[in-house]
Amino acid sequence: MKSRGLIDKTLHFLMHNSILFTVIVMCMVHAVLLLIMLFSDVMPLVYLNSVSVIVYLFCIVLAKFGHIMPVYISILLEVAVYSAVAIYFIGWHSGTFCFLCSIIPIIIYFGSFLFKSGKRWIIALIYSVNFALYIFLFLKFHDAQPVYRLSEVSASVLMIFSSFVAAFSIIFYNTIYIYSSESERTNLEQKNVQLSDDAHKDALTGLLNRRGFLPEMEELMKDEKTRNFCVAFCDIDNFKRVNDSFGHDGGDEVLRHITKLIKGEMQGCSICRWGGEEIVILMKDYDFAVAKVKMEYVRKLVESNPTVFYNKRIPVTITIGLEENKGIYSNPEELIKVADERMYYGKEHGKNIVIFE
Ligand code: GH3
Ligand code: MG
Ligand code: MG
Repeated sequence: MKSRGLIDKTLHFLMHNSILFTVIVMCMVHAVLLLIMLFSDVMPLVYLNSVSVIVYLFCIVLAKFGHIMPVYISILLEVAVYSAVAIYFIGWHSGTFCFLCSIIPIIIYFGSFLFKSGKRWIIALIYSVNFALYIFLFLKFHDAQPVYRLSEVSASVLMIFSSFVAAFSIIFYNTIYIYSSESERTNLEQKNVQLSDDAHKDALTGLLNRRGFLPEMEELMKDEKTRNFCVAFCDIDNFKRVNDSFGHDGGDEVLRHITKLIKGEMQGCSICRWGGEEIVILMKDYDFAVAKVKMEYVRKLVESNPTVFYNKRIPVTITIGLEENKGIYSNPEELIKVADERMYYGKEHGKNIVIFE
């Protein structure tokens, strides 16, 4: 688990610093080639590799400041020029052609960031030019006499090193590409979950909204085993007065506070913010008698726990209409309407009361 975390962190770092990493590695590759050429006494390539190292040192600075396009162009030109000149001096069989292969993942990977949608053809064009150069150099130099003949040791070291660079490039950019598309997919999945959550919840109270609540209730009504439930329709009494006296923020705080009280008391129940100051509670597997006692308790709980808002106490009460799912209701709205009518009856008869018939 620990090592996976480390790999994950490394890949994450490389993904976000891939261009910088690329030019640093290119710089190091040419430093190694410089040493090999120095050892083999191929002076033109010693000078050329020195120029390449300087080019990549500039590229490191450009990459640090996020100038990807000039770095991309520099890499393409440098590799093309270096391959052509090196093949001319030390021959096709020196393995230098491997660099034209190692550049392919770089063309595609960074090209996909630089040339989007309608400009994708540019990647194909660069790739084609690279391939054409490869074929041209092969036809011209594969059986030509090189200017310098390398010793067997130098030739072997150079071939192994060039092949290693090509293999490393293919593996590295594929790994980074797979990792970045996987982490993008994971991000999208998380965002989807968040969006669907937001779409089914009320932002102020965190309670379900109708879109999140009604399908759940409909499901319960369909199944014989889950049909035994009760619904309470709660409405805050004189809430307009709360807003008038304590402002809209005071009213919002009351809504949050009452939500907290009800949520704490009615664990396991689905609770919905039905409208402005109306809350509907779905009590699964509740007998009507138990639900009555419970709602009476909730009514008293709200009455005896005023909201504290900027050191002021805001006392409120709620009126509750209660109904059970008797099997005569064909959809959630019908049942909720009856609970709502009972709540309304309570409003007309003094408020702060539970009505269940
Ligand atoms: P009753 O006892 O008959 O229910 O009276 P009431 O004042 O509670 O009911 P009325 O329907 O007249 O007013 C409800 C008020 O709730 C009006 C509206 O401004 C307020 N309200 C609705 N949604 C919100 C909200 O999200 N925040 C705040 N602060 N107030 C809200
Ligand atoms: Mg009200
Ligand atoms: Mg109301």
